[in-house]
Amino acid sequence: MDADRLVGLAAIPGLASIEETSDGGLTIGAAANIADIAAHPLVRRRYTALAEAAGGLATPQIRNEGTIGGNLAQRPRCWYYRSPLIPCLKKGGDRCYALAGNTRLLCVTGGDRCYIVHPSDTAVALSSLDARLEIAGPNGRRELPIGEFFAGPGRDLLRENVLEPGELITRISLPADAPERSAYLKVRERESGDFALVSVATALTLDGDGTIGKARVALGGVAPVPYRAVEVEAYLLGRRANDVDSTEAAALALPNATPLPQNGYKLPMAINIVRRALDSVLGTDVEHRN
Ligand SMILES: Cc1cc2nc3c(=O)[nH]c(=O)nc-3n(C[C@H](O)[C@H](O)[C@H](O)COP(=O)(O)OP(=O)(O)OC[C@H]3O[C@@H](n4cnc5c(N)ncnc54)[C@H](O)[C@@H]3O)c2cc1C
Ligand code: SF4
Repeated sequence: MDADRLVGLAAIPGLASIEETSDGGLTIGAAANIADIAAHPLVRRRYTALAEAAGGLATPQIRNEGTIGGNLAQRPRCWYYRSPLIPCLKKGGDRCYALAGNTRLLCVTGGDRCYIVHPSDTAVALSSLDARLEIAGPNGRRELPIGEFFAGPGRDLLRENVLEPGELITRISLPADAPERSAYLKVRERESGDFALVSVATALTLDGDGTIGKARVALGGVAPVPYRAVEVEAYLLGRRANDVDSTEAAALALPNATPLPQNGYKLPMAINIVRRALDSVLGTDVEHRN
């Protein structure tokens, strides 16, 4: 894909800052680099899933150079889409070449003529932490929850989000009352420099009596957008942490999945890492589990 003009964002003042807000939340400039986010003390302590997602993505070199805005807005990895020789539907062509070819890395839910998965690890973590995105463009600024930013092929085959021409992500906000404990797990083929086959971010708040007051479970690698496992969240919400059966909860992760010919393996993989991620966030709460 050729571009007539390249625009650099790195020199925009303030766009790379990571700052605690006066109410205890955090704002991250879209040009903040991924390694800085992974290393930030407040991110590590309070928004752990984001630190884990940022700290494990791609390679150290990419994390040192890549920005969170670019990570969220990156284009999909489908081999057919990436090949300049293949005019698939997502490039304005007339068919999905993957369907008749190799579907191993594609989605198991949410596909609609196109079956990409969203490649961003940070998007999955931010989806579990109630993040909001600020967007600026020719018509001013607007802010929206991250769940409204990503858009599947059913909405627009050519795009993966709601950015209009000329718009930029400028900031990512994490609220002070985001779920308190969180974790990010990712299954990939290679230890480094590899995208998720399946990933999960779980985030919970336990109330004083050990009841789960907030529950977010987001999956990557399974859908064209970060996928919220709302049935798992409903299972967890209002239940005492001691009473959670993580195997039972995880089994609810992808109730409407319709795998393609070569990616059925993603279902047991997703269920398994949801269970492990739940055990991880619940297992840290020693006093409530006695
Ligand atoms: C070998 C390899 C392995 C990788 N592995 C992973 C992985 O495991 N997990 C993962 O999540 N990512 C992975 N990536 C992707 C990588 O993390 C992203 O490409 C990187 O974060 C992009 O950052 P950038 O700032 O260089 O963005 P750019 O490459 O400059 O931009 C990417 C896209 O986003 C747009 N964009 C950039 N900033 C903004 C903004 N503020 N607002 C709107 N649009 C914007 C650009 O126009 C462009 O279309 C991998 C990449 C490579 C090459
Ligand atoms: S899955 Fe989407 S991007 Fe990949 S070949 Fe099919 S239409 Fe193109």
